[in-house]
Order: sequence, then structure tokens, then C-alpha cells
Amino acid sequence: MHTKTIAELAKGLRAKEFSSLELTQHYLDRIKQAEILNSFVTVTEQQAIATAKKADEQLASGEGGVLTGIPLAQKDIFCTQDVKTSCGSKMLDNFISPYNATVIEKFNQAGAVMLGKLNMDEFAMGSSNETSFYGPVKNPWDTGTVPGGSSGGSASAVAARLAAGATGTDTGGSIRQPAAFCGITGLKPTYGRVSRYGMIAFASSLDQAGPMTQTVEDAAIMLQTMAGFDVKDSTSVDLPVPDYRAELNNNISGLKIGVIKEFFAEGLDSECAATVETALDEYRKLGAEIKEISMPNLKLSIPVYYVIAPAECSANLSRFDGVRFGYRCENPEDLNDLYIRSRGEGLGAEVKRRILIGTYALSAGYYDAYYIKAQKVRRLISEDFKKAFAEVDVIMGPVTPSTAFGLGEKTGDPIAMYLSDMYTIAVNLAGLPAISVPAGFAGNKPVGLQIIGDYFAESRVLNAAHQYQLVTDWHRRLPEQFA
Ligand code: GLN
Repeated sequence: MHTKTIAELAKGLRAKEFSSLELTQHYLDRIKQAEILNSFVTVTEQQAIATAKKADEQLASGEGGVLTGIPLAQKDIFCTQDVKTSCGSKMLDNFISPYNATVIEKFNQAGAVMLGKLNMDEFAMGSSNETSFYGPVKNPWDTGTVPGGSSGGSASAVAARLAAGATGTDTGGSIRQPAAFCGITGLKPTYGRVSRYGMIAFASSLDQAGPMTQTVEDAAIMLQTMAGFDVKDSTSVDLPVPDYRAELNNNISGLKIGVIKEFFAEGLDSECAATVETALDEYRKLGAEIKEISMPNLKLSIPVYYVIAPAECSANLSRFDGVRFGYRCENPEDLNDLYIRSRGEGLGAEVKRRILIGTYALSAGYYDAYYIKAQKVRRLISEDFKKAFAEVDVIMGPVTPSTAFGLGEKTGDPIAMYLSDMYTIAVNLAGLPAISVPAGFAGNKPVGLQIIGDYFAESRVLNAAHQYQLVTDWHRRLPEQFA
């Protein structure tokens, strides 16, 4: 059952090949057998079984939608009522949310089964899932390597088929980079397409939730449920949600694909470059036109991001003060001691580094030099994309400069870690949609292909990605150990 996609499982449920209860139990067993991956922070077994039984009743009376009875898992950044929401941090190790995030609420209404909450980098800060309070997650393709981050638990769980699909969030690449490292499909939607309500904030102008799945079709199915305006999130956009599956089968002959010259300059591993080239050849065969484009400001993405993201995080994380939420130190002497020790003991090193950098960048006297300057360059990066989309329909390129690296390999060198997002971050700065799809292997390690679209062009991105999956089978490969 676990090799089936969401679309196939939905058919199987209706054809009574299996029940949601059997399916859910099957995934719960797989989760137990794959504990070595450390993908889950919390497994919600009882709740999952109860939801599956309800789904079976609904299905028996001919009701329910495509996600009814489908076992999914949620990144532990989404608030879940009565279930621990840790965000990968000691700070929230004891936090039980009194309400559901909008995304969770929507999956509940769709009748999806929640198997549990997935491990992640602390407060979504990281590229390897090694900053989690709950320990690193392992990559099912090679358990000596990282799954990527920050949605490392999600990518690892879907790659090992411990859930039919999962949610992730992407502030600078955290859906696409782990999807590439683990050989799955991951979509970061346009900023504002999916509600951020109840999704613990890291950098509010960049954060966006999206699906992580085996196939593009499944990503379309999950996005259909996730997308839409939400009165509780003033940055969600009030545009109609198209039928994302409707355009998957459009012919892409004549599609204009831009390839960013600068992405193939220095820093890209030769096997990753060759894999992307081979994928582009597939597109040529499908009748697409490939055009080289230049985006001169993209090289500034990492420095700009590492001013803006820490600045926003320093503001967002000020709420974790030992008073209102989560961890509180023992026997504080006075209020200052309570703040200092609660934050000092409750937050990890990477999170503290970012809070310090962000506070510095926002301080009087430096605000103009760093924060305002970064915002100006951010605009230039968006302009580069705007010019590109006047000429091409989608942009394609690598997701990551290399394949999954070894556990511990980059933990001592934050800059090397930050560089793993060099091809993904510009998309967040501009607020565009982009997908990572499996495009091959370097040795036994998966390589991803990135497809970037214009604002709210998710349908076009999904269409281009789906057509590629129709002529390739990289997305159907499964790590041997978890077959
Ligand atoms: N790896 C990047 C960072 O550490 C992006 C994280 C993310 O997208 N949440 O900030």
C-alpha cells in the first residue's frame, strides 16, 4: 500500500481494496519500524485510528473527498489542538496548542488522517535538520547523510513511505532542498497562497507552507486543500483557487524555459549540473524551448536573506520569553533573570545566533546600513525575476549545489551550511512559487530539478513538472532499506 501515491490510495479506498483503518495501521507500523530515521517528534496513533474509522464510515456512505482517509503527517511547526507543537525546540517541548493552524483545520475538514508531527530544524532554521532539539533526522537513501532542512522530517518520512504525503514550510528553501536530498516532490507556493495562521513564524515576509509528496499530482491534490484566502492571515491573498489537477495534462510543446546562466557558474557540483542538463533534454524532447537568461543580482540572495530573515526572526521570537509560552527556567531571581535564563536555556545555538544578528541589524544606527539596504537589494532580485518572466514561462535549474552531505559535516561551519540554499533563497525573497522534482541520482543520492514560476502560476509549474514525471520514473524510486 505504501508504494501507492495519494491519487492511487484514494482510488483504492473507493474500490474497497483496503480501508482507511488498514492503511493507517500499515503506516503506523512502518513508522515504528523506521524509528532509526527520527522523522517524527510525535506519533498520534489513537487520534489517527479514530479519524480513520470515521473516514471509513464516510467513504462507506459515498461521501468524502480525495483526501478522506489518507494518512498524512504534519511538520511540527503547525499548531495542532491538544497535540504537542514543538517547532523542534526545547522552548516549546511542553507546548500544547489550544487551536489548530488553518492548514491543519483544512486537512481535518478534508477528512485526512494525521499520523503525527514531523521533526524539523529548530524554528525552521537550518538546512540539515541537525538543529532540532529532538536530534538529527536521517536520510533514508543513506542514513549517514542528512535529509536536508528545515523540513527534514517531512522529506525523510515521505521518502521512506512513512506517510502518503506531508506538509513542509519554506522560508529560504526548506521544502525544496530536503525534497531534493530525499528524492521526493516539494512545492513552495507563491507567498500569500497558503494561510500562515497557526504556523509558528520564523521570517514572516518569507515563510510559506506547501506539500511534500511522491508525485506532482499528489502535490496538486494537497495544495488544493491548503490554498486559499484566510481572514485570520492578512497576508494571505484573496484570489480564486484554480483546480490544480485540471491543467496537469496540458501539452507543454512551445513552453519557454529560462535557464539562469549564473546558476551554472561556480559552486555547482558537476554531477548535479549534468543531471539538470539531462532533465532539460527531456523538456526539449517534449517540445519546450530552452533559453539562457542572466539574473545578475541573484548572487546577492544569501547575504540579503541573512539580514532579513534574522531581523524578522529576532522580532518574531521575542514572544518566547518564559512568561507566555513554553519553557521557563527554574527559580528565577527576578524578571530579568527569568527572561535571560528561560531564553538562554530554551533556545539552541543557531536560533540564538540569528536573534543576535537580527537584533544587531535592526538596531538604531545600523538599521539603514543593513536592513534597509537588504530590502533594496531584495527589490532588485524581484526585478530580475520580473524581467525574466517577460521572456519565459518558467525558469529551471538546480535545487542544491550538491547532493545530501554527511551528518555533522557542516555543523561547525554556519556559512557552508547557509550556502546549501544558494539556488532556492531568491525565490522566497521574490515571493514566487517553485517546485523540486526528483531528476536522477549521483551515486545513490537523489538530485532535484527546480522549476520556478511567476506569481500564482502554480498550475503552470505543476503542469511542467507533471509532464516530466510522465516520461521519467525517478519519483517512483524507493530507498532499498525502506522498500
Ligand atoms: N536553510 C535556510 C535557513 O536556515 C532556510 C530555512 C527555511 O526555509 N525555513 O534559514
